[in-house]
Amino acid sequence: MTVKTETKTYLNYINGEWVPSSSQHVYESINPANKNEIVGYVQKSTQEDLDRAVDAAKKTQLIWRNLSSPARGEYLYKVANSLEKNIDEIAETMTKEMGKTFVEAKGETARGVAILRYFAGEGMRKVGDVIPSTESQALMFTTRVPLGVVGVISPWNFPVAIPIWKIAPAIVYGNTVVLKPAQETSVTAARVIECFHEAGLPGGVVNMVTGPGSVIGQGIIDHPDIHGITFTGSDQVGKRVGQGALDRGAKYQLEMGGKNPVIVAEDADLDLAVEATINGGLRSTGQKCTATSRVIVQKTVYNEFKEKLLSKVKEIKVGNGLNSDTWMGPCSSESQLNTVLSYIQKGWDEGATLLYGGNRYEVEEFKNGFFVQPTIFENVNSSMAIAQEEIFGPVLVLIKVENIEEALHIANDVQFGLSASIFTSNIGNMLSFIDDMEAGLIRINAESAGVELQAPFGGMKQSSSHSREQGQAAIEFFTSIKTVFVKP
Ligand code: NDP
Repeated sequence: MTVKTETKTYLNYINGEWVPSSSQHVYESINPANKNEIVGYVQKSTQEDLDRAVDAAKKTQLIWRNLSSPARGEYLYKVANSLEKNIDEIAETMTKEMGKTFVEAKGETARGVAILRYFAGEGMRKVGDVIPSTESQALMFTTRVPLGVVGVISPWNFPVAIPIWKIAPAIVYGNTVVLKPAQETSVTAARVIECFHEAGLPGGVVNMVTGPGSVIGQGIIDHPDIHGITFTGSDQVGKRVGQGALDRGAKYQLEMGGKNPVIVAEDADLDLAVEATINGGLRSTGQKCTATSRVIVQKTVYNEFKEKLLSKVKEIKVGNGLNSDTWMGPCSSESQLNTVLSYIQKGWDEGATLLYGGNRYEVEEFKNGFFVQPTIFENVNSSMAIAQEEIFGPVLVLIKVENIEEALHIANDVQFGLSASIFTSNIGNMLSFIDDMEAGLIRINAESAGVELQAPFGGMKQSSSHSREQGQAAIEFFTSIKTVFVKP
């Protein structure tokens, strides 16, 4: 590849230093709003690079774990300050690299700052319990120890928040980390790691190796010195991570796809439901694991809801995420765009009715970008691919139902169980939804996407390996419990 010298090349971060890959090769990260713009070059790393990073993490972990957890937390406060200082530049990089609007990118980066501060504080929290022993004069208690070296494999859709919500708890509880970010957003990842560097973290605590999932991701799965793997991404790759980790006895945590429903009951505030459906389904171009994709509406209010939804969707301004009037940016990559278009075709083929959108934009302004129209289908039944499979794009399917029982049945009729919303003013509907909806995140009169950083996050069924991230739940994955019995 011919490297343009005016475009920056980003290096791997190993043992506190920025180093090139042993491969001597880089790949380019491009702007999905304009594929001719190269955002940066990143290292196409090798197993040898990964081994060096793991080695550094392993050696440092023995020292890092001996630091008190409040002292480890102090470093996270410094990283938070650095990220906050660079928030505009990092958000702009994110928008250029994966397409979400600058406002959303800045919001995500601010979330990263808050997560770092939250976990810095977690360094002060208790890590065990005293448990009464049946023996007199004995002391029994639990304490927690770090896993060792943790491998972090992250996706492109939240390139700041997801690595941070994995790295911050990992290191505050005494682990060291090797991050393999998604190739598509490796420049943004490098910008985040620069903040860890600027904060003066000891070399080897956090390492980053960029490169293909099949080499670096697989290398993390197989590496005998990596004791925990935390993964967010597709269910296909997630299952591979889980199986590989299980084979060699490593701890693993998987957060995968979703096919998140919103139920609109006949007693719902329809304007609120429309607003939340649009925000939940189409913000970030539908590329959130918690994005709304199935809209299940009681037939008595179906037409009214549909008309309100259509009139709002028609107002959506699509464009380059850096333009201040853009509401929805492009798909993050050409392959993501093609996936979305192929699902739209499947919707046609299966007999659903296209209500709005359905095409790539043909206008001059968009010809070098991966832009697709916000799209709505109706006359969808639950067995269609567009109602069952994760599209990860700005596509909503409307499903008409008789009553709430039928709505719940359809809402649960998928393999995934990440997030689900209901819009209703009826307490009975709310309680049935809380009890019977098979999802890790239950949202009532609120959009399916979005969860607060201090609360546990994760899915049921095939959305997750059933552990939880974020908030105080994070300690469960990043530590092991030791039960101690002392008889003086
Ligand atoms: P992928 O599963 O394709 O990739 C996720 C990460 O895994 C990337 O870093 C990727 O690297 C890496 N990877 C790819 N192949 C392998 C392999 N063989 N072994 C190990 N690692 C590998 O997902 P996407 O990045 O495409 O993200 C989109 C998906 O993520 C969606 O399905 C979405 O639902 C899910 N997601 C789930 C979330 C949740 O919390 N539940 C949150 C965000 C996204 P590379 O980039 O090099 O391919």
